[in-house]
Amino acid sequence: MENCIFCKIIAGEIPSTTIYEDEAVKAFLDISQTTPGHTLVVPKKHVADIFEYDQTLAASVFERIPKIARAIKASDSSIKGMNIVNNNGAIAYQSVFHSHFHLIPRYSSKDDFKMIFVDNSANYKQEKLTQIAAQIKKQF
Ligand code: AMP
Ligand code: ZN
Repeated sequence: MENCIFCKIIAGEIPSTTIYEDEAVKAFLDISQTTPGHTLVVPKKHVADIFEYDQTLAASVFERIPKIARAIKASDSSIKGMNIVNNNGAIAYQSVFHSHFHLIPRYSSKDDFKMIFVDNSANYKQEKLTQIAAQIKKQF
């Protein structure tokens, strides 16, 4: 894919600090290093976002994530947990439109990664949840 920064990284045309690579994925340090060890796992096949994965590609990428996550965690005893984040669409904070998974090691509640889940449960009765679920279920 022309003009895709991650395709250029995969092709070796742009340097990256790679931690793992095989025929299906490349994993390299995110330049932002939100926390130390912040890594991107990127499929070698160009797909823009999660909505473009077929089952085979999804299986090959997802099956590799746990071992990459374990290696990062094992690399530093001060890593206590990890957030795995996948942004899809500009509205969802995606800025590079070659799909990727952020592996963000967590060191403490005061490190530099934040996520906010607002609790709207008071506004959702069961009837509303059932209606939302029915709308989704008929799309499969
Ligand atoms: P997202 O906002 O989810 O699309 O994430 C894109 C990520 O790519 C950001 O966290 C950037 O810091 C990272 N990034 C952009 N260019 C590079 C690069 N050349 N090498 C490593 N990471 C990059
Ligand atoms: Zn690409």
